[in-house]
Amino acid sequence: MGEAFLNLQFRKSYDDFTLELDVSLSAGITAIFGPSGSGKSTTLNCIAGITKPDSGNLELWNRPLFLSGNLFRGINRPPEKRRVGYVFQDGLLFPHLRVRENILYGYKRTPKNRRHMRPNKLVEMLELEPLLYRMPNTLSGGERQRVALARAMAASPEVLLLDEPLASLDMPFRGRILRQLKAVHHDSGIPMIYVSHTISEVMVLAEQVLVLADGKQVALDTPQNFLHQTPVLPLVDPAHLETLLEGRVVAHHPESGTTEAEFGGFTLWLPTIDRDIRDPITVSVAASNVMLAAEAPVGLSARNVLKATVSALDRVGETVMVTADAGRSILAEVTPEAAASLGLQPGSEVYLVLKASSIVVLG
Ligand code: ADP
Repeated sequence: MGEAFLNLQFRKSYDDFTLELDVSLSAGITAIFGPSGSGKSTTLNCIAGITKPDSGNLELWNRPLFLSGNLFRGINRPPEKRRVGYVFQDGLLFPHLRVRENILYGYKRTPKNRRHMRPNKLVEMLELEPLLYRMPNTLSGGERQRVALARAMAASPEVLLLDEPLASLDMPFRGRILRQLKAVHHDSGIPMIYVSHTISEVMVLAEQVLVLADGKQVALDTPQNFLHQTPVLPLVDPAHLETLLEGRVVAHHPESGTTEAEFGGFTLWLPTIDRDIRDPITVSVAASNVMLAAEAPVGLSARNVLKATVSALDRVGETVMVTADAGRSILAEVTPEAAASLGLQPGSEVYLVLKASSIVVLG
């Protein structure tokens, strides 16, 4: 994680809701996680200057964005002066401009001495070349989001805000955009703040996680740790517990209708996908689809059996969430009775059984 780049000490009240933050974020990818209505979008809007805090102080790289005070001393920089990029849920683009002009819009308005993102490089990284002369209304949701990302980045912002950018996308597009987002961050070094209520996206993308509940900060931690914190667990919807794994295609097995992919330490057999060998892929495994066995299972038709070590057990609602380390952390959901009869505890060796059909390829 980099040094602190964003200080947020402010308060914003609506009728029956108050957001109150006192936190410094490090340069890197920060996820803001929390249930609907916890204040995630309000936080982004205050950073962007779309919403004015009631009081407090916001600083980006020690530059004041907002400072409450009397008429003479207060600061409230207008959004266009904040050097903040914003990508919304539905990828807002200028409808009357082609993709190319949308991308160049922010670039042209950025003073030459502050431009450090090359539009051509963004087009290449986000694979936008074939779309450059299209109008926004002819793009799919995923294409719009990639263009919105390029447009925001082309203005060389000092922070990029992303509000649930994958929420409106179909599954097969989520993995590709997540990978591209990470690549753009890696290449540019521009800090990102990624709002999501999907734990798996947070885990695969972020270096730190700020957890909000009812307008208050309840945790600021690494993705590996935040999920196990007592105040965070009640905020997790067990139905959304899943693990995202990033890997590469290794081989196709037409005889069994499967594709084999490698995930850094283990391989999985997936339902056949139309991708080339060595192509990157991202898959999702729902925690409820991971079965646990205390002994190596024999005579199973499922091909995917992974040896793992239990690293944590957490009660989530009526179920127990098991975090198992198989080289990568994988979440499994079991009943409290099953956890007891398997004698699960941190350090236990287990076998994870994943049916090929339960692995969803996200692209
Ligand atoms: P989240 O992004 O976590 O879902 P929001 O920041 O959008 O949460 O909203 C937090 C709370 O603030 C909600 O109760 C919402 O109704 C309220 N709120 C947000 N914007 C406004 C507004 N412009 N006027 C009144 N209430 C608002």
